[in-house]
Amino acid sequence: MLNIVIFGAPGSGKGTQSARIVEKYGVSHISTGDVLRAEIKKGSELGKVAKGYIDQGQLLPDALIIDILASVLDSLKDSRGVIFDGFPRTIPQAEALKKMLSERGQDVSVMLDLDVPEDELIDRLIKRGQESGRADDNLETIKKRLTVYSEQTSPLKDFYKAEGKYQHINGVGSMDAIFDEIASVISKL
Ligand code: ADP
Repeated sequence: MLNIVIFGAPGSGKGTQSARIVEKYGVSHISTGDVLRAEIKKGSELGKVAKGYIDQGQLLPDALIIDILASVLDSLKDSRGVIFDGFPRTIPQAEALKKMLSERGQDVSVMLDLDVPEDELIDRLIKRGQESGRADDNLETIKKRLTVYSEQTSPLKDFYKAEGKYQHINGVGSMDAIFDEIASVISKL
């Protein structure tokens, strides 16, 4: 069972590379950002709550997002593996994921850290905002998200280093070159 955590700052290319991993390895993809945007689109209660946090560039409370992740994971019981995109984003979320997987007799196989310098992240996100109209891709919210990333999410690098699961990936270059590096890591698992 391949359980891959794809990690990186907003705009680092997690979604793009996840799609390629799904195509090559046949794993299921859980993107918490996509799950929340779908709820917002439906106009559900959860969507209303999520929108409040997302528009402010803040993370949803751990307990809420952990529940959501658990129910999505339950719905994927027969999959060959999972790529976790946008989760975990805090240490409590990483601990919850470890527990959920161990209850299923599994573990995280690898954490891929897509490393992109901050100026390039900002350029990419502004461009994405112009093209896709994603409401949180505006300069003010982008800056908040990057601060939240460095304060709350980047400590997970040390968490996964301590678990022996950390793998650095150069996130700058062509999408193909980045995917080649990812595939060479996965093929050695
Ligand atoms: P990004 O490109 O910023 O990484 P995502 O699509 O992964 O975007 O997530 C968008 C927003 O959804 C985040 O800024 C956050 O508000 C919320 N969100 C997504 N995943 C989580 C999570 N694991 N914990 C808390 N909030 C989350």
